[in-house]
Amino acid sequence: MQQNLDLRPFNSLAVSSTARYFTQVNSVEELKQALQHSRQQQLPVLLLGGGSNLVLTEDFPGLCIQISLQGVQWCNIDDNWVKVTAQAGENWHQFVDHCLQHGAYGLENLALIPGTVGAAPIQNIGAYGVDINDFMLDLKALNRDSLQMQYFSREDCAFGYRDSIFKTAARDRYIITEVSFKLRRMPKLMVSYGALADQLSDLADPSPQDLFDAVVRTRSAKLPDPNQLANVGSFFKNPVVSKLHHQRLKQQYPGLVAYADPAGMKLAAGWMIDHCGWKGYRKGDAGVHDKQALVLVNYGAASGAEVLALASAIQTDIKQHFDVELEIEPRCY
Ligand code: FAD
Ligand code: NAP
Repeated sequence: MQQNLDLRPFNSLAVSSTARYFTQVNSVEELKQALQHSRQQQLPVLLLGGGSNLVLTEDFPGLCIQISLQGVQWCNIDDNWVKVTAQAGENWHQFVDHCLQHGAYGLENLALIPGTVGAAPIQNIGAYGVDINDFMLDLKALNRDSLQMQYFSREDCAFGYRDSIFKTAARDRYIITEVSFKLRRMPKLMVSYGALADQLSDLADPSPQDLFDAVVRTRSAKLPDPNQLANVGSFFKNPVVSKLHHQRLKQQYPGLVAYADPAGMKLAAGWMIDHCGWKGYRKGDAGVHDKQALVLVNYGAASGAEVLALASAIQTDIKQHFDVELEIEPRCY
């Protein structure tokens, strides 16, 4: 166990925050021991995967536990489907690539999303029209109170748009230790998003590998690599408003980008932020990315609080212009 460790290398926004204690766990047994220790010492616990979806705003006075459980297991279901189970600490992008290389298809649209397998269900990660709930079968999680393992079916997870039970009713109650997916043996590509369709339009019969490569190319061209420019991906969720609200906005802002959603209309938050002139804005070391206004960046020494202050100014501006509340996507501590 390490003491007084700066978590800067462990969060993709690269903000400094000292954890009083820090440990990495490689098995459920080690995880239980760490939790028992925190209980005995009355230490609060901060769970960490890849640190790509959290904002640290102050030092952490307790025990930070990084989930590092490794391993992937395969189980044939039938000629059309295969079950693949990954331990929580596996790197998400490498897992997607591993499935593709072994002929298990469906996750290609989710290539290059940073972080771990175990954190993926927390916000039901999604990109280019695919969410993990499209392919997730079930998961196992450790109950933090009872230290008993618990099984969650996909339905139990109550998945929504960048949402799950682990962000709502069961927040901070479970630690996900492994996740299973039911993947296709016969590929069926999802290329409804314009950027992907454009890239694949020259190919008569694109393969899952073509789709994976197109996703990697598109994302690399538009989104900042956290290793080059610190960020946590989209800082805000795309808000869903009523059709009436959308109609009113569309009259006022004819260029407004929006998509039909089961609950109304989903507005592209990045377009609204850009329209209000924030794209490329910088105050100190906190800024708005110059290619995608939904991404806030840390140019070097910004604190989590400074990034949140920028986020708050953007939220106020968007509320004034569009009468829409922008919800912050990463978890703030
Ligand atoms: P962390 O940031 O370490 O943790 C996130 C939260 O989950 C924290 O509250 C943490 O305590 C909790 N947690 C972590 N592991 C566990 C566990 N095993 N059990 C219980 N709780 C846990 N997200 C998308 O949905 N789509 C995208 O396309 C996307 N693109 C991104 C692009 C970039 C450049 C970046 C930086 C981020 C992007 N994200 C995207 C956000 C992020 O990558 C995902 O949310 C990812 O799943 C976070 O994984 P992580 O391991 O880094 O989680
Ligand atoms: P984009 O393709 O420029 O699209 C802008 C927004 O419009 C997206 O947020 C997307 O919503 C929506 N959109 C575009 N085409 C759509 C369609 N055919 N149907 C429904 N909605 C559509 O977005 P981008 O910034 O380059 O990101 C590409 C994908 O990666 C998006 O799916 C985005 O969510 C995902 N991504 C997520 C994060 C994160 O941290 N959460 C970070 C980077 C990228 P959706 O967001 O609902 O898809």
